[in-house]
Amino acid sequence: MGTEFKGITASDGLFMGQVRKLSFALKTRVPTGDLAQEREALETALAQSITELGALMGRVEGEAADILGFQVAMLEDEALAAPAMTAISQGIAADAAWSQAMAAEIAGYESSEDDYFRARAADLKDMRDRVLRHLSGDNHSGAAVGLVLVGDDLPPTAFLETDWSKGGAIALIKGSTTSHVAMLARARGVPMIVGLGDESIFSASALIVDGSRGLVIADPDETAQSAFTRDHAELAARHGIERTFLFEPARRKDGGVIDILINVAGVEELDAIDPRSCDGIGLMRSEFLFRDGAPLPDEEQQYRAYRRFLEWAGAKPVTIRTLDIGGDKPIAGLTPSGESNPFLGLRGVRLTLAREDVFRTQLRALARAAVHGTLKVMIPMVTVPEELSRSAQLLQSCVAELRAEGAPCALPPLGIMVEVPAVAVAPDLFREAAFFSIGSNDLTQYVTASSRDDARVAALNDAGHPAVTRLIVAVAQYGRDNDIPVSLCGDMASDTRHLKTLLDCGLTSLSVAPSRLGRIKAALAEI
Ligand code: PEP
Ligand code: MG
Repeated sequence: MGTEFKGITASDGLFMGQVRKLSFALKTRVPTGDLAQEREALETALAQSITELGALMGRVEGEAADILGFQVAMLEDEALAAPAMTAISQGIAADAAWSQAMAAEIAGYESSEDDYFRARAADLKDMRDRVLRHLSGDNHSGAAVGLVLVGDDLPPTAFLETDWSKGGAIALIKGSTTSHVAMLARARGVPMIVGLGDESIFSASALIVDGSRGLVIADPDETAQSAFTRDHAELAARHGIERTFLFEPARRKDGGVIDILINVAGVEELDAIDPRSCDGIGLMRSEFLFRDGAPLPDEEQQYRAYRRFLEWAGAKPVTIRTLDIGGDKPIAGLTPSGESNPFLGLRGVRLTLAREDVFRTQLRALARAAVHGTLKVMIPMVTVPEELSRSAQLLQSCVAELRAEGAPCALPPLGIMVEVPAVAVAPDLFREAAFFSIGSNDLTQYVTASSRDDARVAALNDAGHPAVTRLIVAVAQYGRDNDIPVSLCGDMASDTRHLKTLLDCGLTSLSVAPSRLGRIKAALAEI
């Protein structure tokens, strides 16, 4: 077979290719021994790095541009280099001074209890090494085509500098599924496995990266290669079949039609999706417009983004969820630090009601955008009816304020996520909601008391648990009896294994990952 290494899938897909070992070893630099020259060398290296990143930014957009923008903003901030400049004035060479200053920053991120911040440490290391390369006069080039990149971790800029047009894959000893580079790999369809742990993989010359099984096979023999050829052909055929369903209405075998909408996080995703392939947007996770470390988007910026979703969808409905910050999505300055259990803490509507200024800005932007299409607004993490009524009052008062200002606006219907068990058990308390959307991701973690981001309890965090199914049945039934539309927008809807159960629960509307549209419609046709 070849040697098998088990890891965690960060991006799905199957690829076989030669290994390119990622080496970011740096050339040794000879210090000038002159304080002024050392200071100037660091200033020049910083400027060169900013120019280089700026040029790279011009070639990419969306998430990728944000990552580079983060690095440019950090490098432009004089506070970042200040400790290094002080060290230089005390006689330390520019490269050593820069490395020391960055080590302190990186250690801060790496020691964070939060996966998100730990994943950002890779961005800082990437920036550190880019500046060090310029200091040593090394013009590194990450060019690699059609190869499997293997290393401890992969900086996002190295991903962006790689030509993926002829395929390729990534296999990392460390890495994380929540890192920026993992998000980029998913968006670009590059198979990626992280957490392989075993350094002996470095000695392989060829690898098969199998995202569907979280597996890497080193130096595959003929049997493994023919299995790869077979699996690859099957995968390509499956994708081909799925594509033929893309523009068909989502229909069961018995002819029953189901609404299939999509989940999105950013406007840049829209370019790759044809609105004719879905029945609208079932969940827009607005918190992803907010970047940690960046200024909060103001009303105008939010209005323009929401308007884009509505214009893209035409007359089809667009459900925009108000900020679900907190939990595993912290934003410094908004989320409290030091929560002992952030998933049970100040998250979603709990946070926005505590920060009315932030909530009102968003609600005003939404009410203004509402005139451009069929907008629905959804509140996350609702637990008690007062959260819905207070949100409704705030929305009404924002609309009244806008009307008094003479600004075009409309009052969109206000619905809620059903993701806290209290709501799923007692949906009758929320009869004022215009609609329900079941968040099976959080509902599952709260019902099974197993964190959604902890691999050690992944087996318990099972959306197929009968307790979760019973709650979905009850919510769907309550909705039918009381004319409240019910949809489901958790990941469960994107997983064909749960499709029949969800239909049996009585659901007729699902919101799925855009990449799963064809697959879900194809599976539906078999039910
Ligand atoms: C959910 O909890 O199922 C959901 C859709 O919301 P999120 O995954 O953004 O928490
Ligand atoms: Mg949720």
